[in-house]
Amino acid sequence: MKILKFGGSSVGTPERISSIIDLVTDSNRYGPGEVRGVVVSAFQGVTDTLIKLAHLAAQGDDTYKVSLQALEKRHLEAIDVLVPVAHRSSVLANAKVTLNELGDLLQGITLVSECSPRTLDLIMSFGERLSAFIVSEAFISRGVDAEMLDARAIVWTNEAFGNARPNKEETESATKAYFASHPKLQIITGFIGSSHTELTTTLGRGGSDYTASIVGAALRADEIEIWTDVDGMLTADPRKVPKAFPIPEITFEEAMELCHFGAKVIYPPTMQPAIDAHIPLIIKNTLKPDSLGTRIVENAATLPYPITGISSISNIALVRLEGSGMVGVAGTAARLFKALAAARINIILITQASSEHTICCAIDPSSIESARAAIGEEFGLEIQAGMISPLVVEEDLAIVSIVGERMRQTPGISARIFTALGSNAINVVAVAQGSSELNVSAVISNEDETKALNALHDEFFSNRAKTINLWIIGTGLIGGTLLTQLESQREVLRDALAIDLQLRGLANSRKMVLAKESDDALDFTIELSDSSPALILSDLIDHIHAANLPNCVFVDCTASEEVPQHYAKLLRKNIAVVTPNKRGISAGIDLYNQIISTAQERRTPFLHETCVGAALPVLSTLRDLVRSGDQVYRIEAVLSGTLSFIFNSLDEGRSFSDAVREAKQLGYTEPDPRDDLSGADVARKVLILARNAGLPFEESQVTINPILPPEASTWSVDEFMERLPTLNAHFEAQVNQAREHGKRLFFGALIDCVERRAEIGLRAVPLNHPFCALSGSDNIVAFSTRRYTPNALVVKGPGAGAEVTAAGVFADIIRIAS
Ligand code: ADP
Ligand code: ASP
Ligand code: MG
Repeated sequence: MKILKFGGSSVGTPERISSIIDLVTDSNRYGPGEVRGVVVSAFQGVTDTLIKLAHLAAQGDDTYKVSLQALEKRHLEAIDVLVPVAHRSSVLANAKVTLNELGDLLQGITLVSECSPRTLDLIMSFGERLSAFIVSEAFISRGVDAEMLDARAIVWTNEAFGNARPNKEETESATKAYFASHPKLQIITGFIGSSHTELTTTLGRGGSDYTASIVGAALRADEIEIWTDVDGMLTADPRKVPKAFPIPEITFEEAMELCHFGAKVIYPPTMQPAIDAHIPLIIKNTLKPDSLGTRIVENAATLPYPITGISSISNIALVRLEGSGMVGVAGTAARLFKALAAARINIILITQASSEHTICCAIDPSSIESARAAIGEEFGLEIQAGMISPLVVEEDLAIVSIVGERMRQTPGISARIFTALGSNAINVVAVAQGSSELNVSAVISNEDETKALNALHDEFFSNRAKTINLWIIGTGLIGGTLLTQLESQREVLRDALAIDLQLRGLANSRKMVLAKESDDALDFTIELSDSSPALILSDLIDHIHAANLPNCVFVDCTASEEVPQHYAKLLRKNIAVVTPNKRGISAGIDLYNQIISTAQERRTPFLHETCVGAALPVLSTLRDLVRSGDQVYRIEAVLSGTLSFIFNSLDEGRSFSDAVREAKQLGYTEPDPRDDLSGADVARKVLILARNAGLPFEESQVTINPILPPEASTWSVDEFMERLPTLNAHFEAQVNQAREHGKRLFFGALIDCVERRAEIGLRAVPLNHPFCALSGSDNIVAFSTRRYTPNALVVKGPGAGAEVTAAGVFADIIRIAS
């Protein structure tokens, strides 16, 4: 035998009501008579509307009549759809009587300008009474032998209006007796009960679940099914964590804990009658009746994760009692809780510092004033004597809770929680661990709630793909290639590395596009067009901050000097930065220091591997040497693929002008080839290398020995390209001279870490020198260190080109993700 419950969304529209009748009468699903009772909630949103109506009426605001009319219309229209004409009029008349009763009551509230909790309960009861009536008539119209049961005839409660508790014995015997004499299928009002003086009470918001459990337990049902709008109890609220997935089985204790801390899928007190009567609770999706749902049972099968679920409560307040007068004084906590309980304040969470100096309680913000009054009264004397400080209240907070039986046996869970929160710049205001070790809760800022939930979900359910939120600025050669690579690798990353890359924003120097919702992503193939919004860099940065998502990476593929000015601001918010843009970190040392120290302080990656040698592991090798305690003496390098190409061509006998023109044609040079030939680009790379080696150099400390005659800098680009042949003789002479001495020319860089100097320019070396064996656009970097002497550690390979550079940026992103 089963008791079923359908929530507000399952009876939200006449179509939904029809489909739950299909479901209950489906002979493949339930045997004849197997379903004994169907508990229903008010139509979706109706309880909220009723509360609003009561408040408006109490304020003498006549507009309640407009909402009342709409409410009336909604219910009467449902009858029109669900009940055939033949007996529609009597059903409509009945409903109308109930609706008139509601209208009279609201009118009464207007007259006395007051709505007590007791009256509000009566007002709220109309939602379930109308719904159960209409649903029962709909069942009857479909030929089912059903009738409505007003739960006030069976659920006997105390008079705690708004949160009434049933008397177990009386309710059980009334329920058994009622069902014994009523063999039809009972369509039962959820949520409501009756006190001994026959006053209408309600069981607390969401209380229809509780009704189902009370009735199911009284009748010793085999199962109690809670039908709602999600696939069961999920690892987190799917509205806040898109990657949440259904938990097949969960223990009553875990479910209770998750629900207590905000998983509103089921009303927490619902669990108790089911536990007492050893009845499984099943949560199912009305919209997808064949999905498995969740079984809440005594002994649940375990999931392959260290925790079972994560939940949260938004908008709580923390009240803190502190003072030396509390230290070592027995009973302070008890007095505090008693005072709050007497004022009917629900304590969501308690933490006490081990010094006993402070006790914090999380409460609903609507209770702050009564908490202040209750505590002021209880501790008035101590506060007056200065032994206890006046109550401190912090608002705009949220609680996130990690729940699971297996946490007891798994060390290190707390560390993982705090790392996941900390590395996403989420500040923890207070922490509490249930003594059963079934849950760990952290109080954080309200605005971080969704970010924290997603970060924790990724942390603990990580064999599911981890989401990386990307913002990319720069859609030129490197940025464009990166987008193509990301698009083509996306599936592989998800399947093989469990990394789910989501593009949240894309910008170039003029335009930007942003994903509309935080759980929405852009296509990697998206193009910026003239109709895209204009880029305002500070707005973009503010938007990334405001999105407040976990695991964020900002990728700067521009050659802009302005974008790097914002790196520190991003890093401060634990947004990782990946960039091949040399302009920022080769600008003034102050900016460099600010970026690096913020990254270190916030423990947030700032990866700029591709600034030197494209995808070659130059900077990472240098960093590893320095971190492992080696001492770098000297770095010698060829760092310009463009210049390598030109000098290799000269060596093969081509003229300087042909070599430069060809390099330009192949896209190896900057638009103005003098940017390469002047050595400015190499000088930037040298600065970056030197700084990574621990030398805080400014630009002026890199000596450039120019290879172009001074007048070349006064020409326009076109003039320069035209006059190239006039430089041929100058270079030919140098190449020949080197050759005569058995040497070869290359454009090299030297950083002498001992003498603390850096220099770049043309050098001639013997033909057997490793730097002579470079081909194409190869780069080479030789590190001479204490460990690598006399043979240097050499990194060599293609050091230019959009494909390899974009691949290096991609690799940096993956490094962060994993
Ligand atoms: P009903 O109207 O059927 O009683 P509720 O709105 O009370 O439904 O509860 C279902 C909602 O609970 C879901 O739509 C979902 O957004 C929310 N919810 C919060 N946490 C969870 C969770 N861990 N698993 C499933 N649903 C959750
Ligand atoms: N209708 C009530 C509410 O909205 C009870 C319920 O839906 O469970 O709180
Ligand atoms: Mg509910």
